Amino acid sequence: MELKITCIPGDGIGPEIIAEARKVLCAVAEKYGHTISYTDVLMGGASIDVHGVPLTEEAVAAARNADAVLMGSIGGDAATSPWYKLPPNLRPEAGLLSIRKALNLFANLRPAVLYDELTGACPLKEEISKAGFDMLIMRELTGGLYFGERRTTEENGVKTAVDTLVYQEHEIRRIAVKGFEIAMKRRKKVTSVDKANVLDSSRLWRQVVEDVAKAYPEVTLEHMLVDNCAMQLVRDPAQFDVILTENMFGDILSDEASMVTGSIGMLASASLNDTKFGLYEPSHGSAPDIAGKDIANPIATVLSAAMMLRYSFDLDEAADAIENAVKQVLKEGYRTADIFSDGCTLVGCRQMGDLLAERV
Ligand code: NAD
Repeated sequence: MELKITCIPGDGIGPEIIAEARKVLCAVAEKYGHTISYTDVLMGGASIDVHGVPLTEEAVAAARNADAVLMGSIGGDAATSPWYKLPPNLRPEAGLLSIRKALNLFANLRPAVLYDELTGACPLKEEISKAGFDMLIMRELTGGLYFGERRTTEENGVKTAVDTLVYQEHEIRRIAVKGFEIAMKRRKKVTSVDKANVLDSSRLWRQVVEDVAKAYPEVTLEHMLVDNCAMQLVRDPAQFDVILTENMFGDILSDEASMVTGSIGMLASASLNDTKFGLYEPSHGSAPDIAGKDIANPIATVLSAAMMLRYSFDLDEAADAIENAVKQVLKEGYRTADIFSDGCTLVGCRQMGDLLAERV
């Protein structure tokens, strides 16, 4: 199979972690007989330095022209970088918001996995962490409270602020379909999270999700109120497979789920539209504090590349090979500095990439 990928190395540690992800993808392509063609484009600070803007039309066109986008991370140190003296719409992060919008990426996927070897990093009690967990938070990314009408008014000295939470049926349906499709590739359970005891938008959410569920009889659907879900994530995270939720709830719950893994350098993510196309990137930022030192953990980016193979190319076996290589390397005791503990072998970014590629 020919995989056409647009690559955005980005800023800070971005180019280093992307180089390692490509090394691992190359090993997978060789093993399973695929060819990969990359188009590299600039975004964020790297694009500002060359083109004066964080995202060019050409970069968007290159992304549209590919089957998937693999991204490192963008941005710099806000206190010292000249990029942050520019107006907000010309700063590095504006590039990311623009590309998500241009590509209609409405579904954000963030897996939170606790590896047996890293349970020490999990801030939960041992009796909870020992059960492990492997969940995926699916967050609606382009609707809801963050995109509804907002205004602040003042009448007779009283200030009033209003934000509107709007969802249309088709917006809920398309993300629910994604959620169930992805659950079919996992443990076939969807927990739909809402606040249906209070919000009309949640009652519509629940109704549409139930309707979509009829087409997926193998998938178990449960509904959970968001306040309960926030508690269950720290009480019994092992119960979750796919958590399907709207924009704001997903924003908060996905950060909570990331924190309970305790390892920011391990967390992948994907943003999808209603085709097979997706943008895949680590959940972490560009870590300018450690850029260029060969100490960044490339695993989140490598796992994002595995998600790309699974969700954009349906190459589940190749994705499994990458995920198993990560487990193997951890089992053998190799660690980058961010996940290092006593008795392990400390490796740099490049060496971690080599080890993963060898084990694929
Ligand atoms: P960050 O995630 O870059 O770093 C937070 C801490 O985690 C730092 O100490 C960093 O060294 C460490 N860290 C992050 N990734 C690591 C890795 N792979 N290996 C080892 N250690 C790692 O968050 P920040 O410092 O708040 O942001 C830095 C820049 O990244 C900012 O400009 C921010 O806007 C940008 N950012 C970009 C994205 C994105 O591109 N999607 C996401 C978040 C932040």
